Amino acid sequence: MRQAVGAGILLWVAVFLPAFLFSRGEELSHPLGEEQRVNSTVEVSVSTDSDHTLRLWDEGEVREMSVEEYLQGVLRAEMGAAFHMEALKAQTVAERTYLYYQMGVGAKAAHPSAHVCTDPGCCTAYLSEAAAREKWGEVFTEHDEKIREAVAATDGKVMYYDGEPIMAVFHSSSAGVTATSGEVWTADLPYLVSVESPEGADTVPNYYSVSTFTREEFRKKIAAAHPAAKLSGKTEAWIGDVVRSDTGRVESVVIGGVAVTGQELRNLFSLRSTAFTVEEGEEITFRVTGYGHGVGMSQYGANTLAGEGKSWQEILRWYYTGITIDDYTGP
Ligand SMILES: [Zn+2]
Repeated sequence: MRQAVGAGILLWVAVFLPAFLFSRGEELSHPLGEEQRVNSTVEVSVSTDSDHTLRLWDEGEVREMSVEEYLQGVLRAEMGAAFHMEALKAQTVAERTYLYYQMGVGAKAAHPSAHVCTDPGCCTAYLSEAAAREKWGEVFTEHDEKIREAVAATDGKVMYYDGEPIMAVFHSSSAGVTATSGEVWTADLPYLVSVESPEGADTVPNYYSVSTFTREEFRKKIAAAHPAAKLSGKTEAWIGDVVRSDTGRVESVVIGGVAVTGQELRNLFSLRSTAFTVEEGEEITFRVTGYGHGVGMSQYGANTLAGEGKSWQEILRWYYTGITIDDYTGP
């Protein structure tokens, strides 16, 4: 009897322990088969943020730093320490994944000698430790400890789809549901589909915003971009059909007989998102919901989910469909 129990334990150790050690409490599913995974533990050591370096283009200067230092900087800039810890961790994994995705794609034309830059319009915002110390003042130590904890607690963790780090884009807040990648860019990616997002006006600053333009301001901006648009006579006749996507965002608006995309209107009039309505009258008024392109994780939505008790893994799986979370094992 004792022997049988002993043999049972041995069998358990031999069969289950390697898988248990490898999974480290994370994903059990993986794009590779089980046999390949076990082999990969022998050949590829699990990497951490401090093992990897990157080149950051920072206002005309290339700075080399560890992935750990970079992620702390983007987390300070992108979310700040006021968010729940699980949202900060989800944000860190999204940033890390996007970084490795970007490194795999290759350097952008804007900064061929660096992997990423500090321009949020191009890559991701970045706030150095020194800049944060100045900005945060006496709460710096408390806030920075939270930032460091979020990075350390998810060390090396990346989201995968089909074995590759995903294009883990994110935005500030969504209008009820997120947008698909095809609505904003050209390709529909299987992990960037529209999902519900729980944030609202009670938790998001400026969730609803209003942008108003005089007839002349509006006419000038449209005429500069679309000389063919006929904008004369009553303002009520200027704006025609509004076409919306399945997620409720503006795809196009007919203005003076010309179809102008929602994206272009967002840029021309500095609107916070393409989830807007437009009213004509003495003035032209845009009423806008949310902030950002609407694709991938909503940062305020992540914070709401974290407040409801969801883990960072649950938050990421909420916003990025069909992904797995695993250690980064790339170059
Ligand atoms: Zn860039």
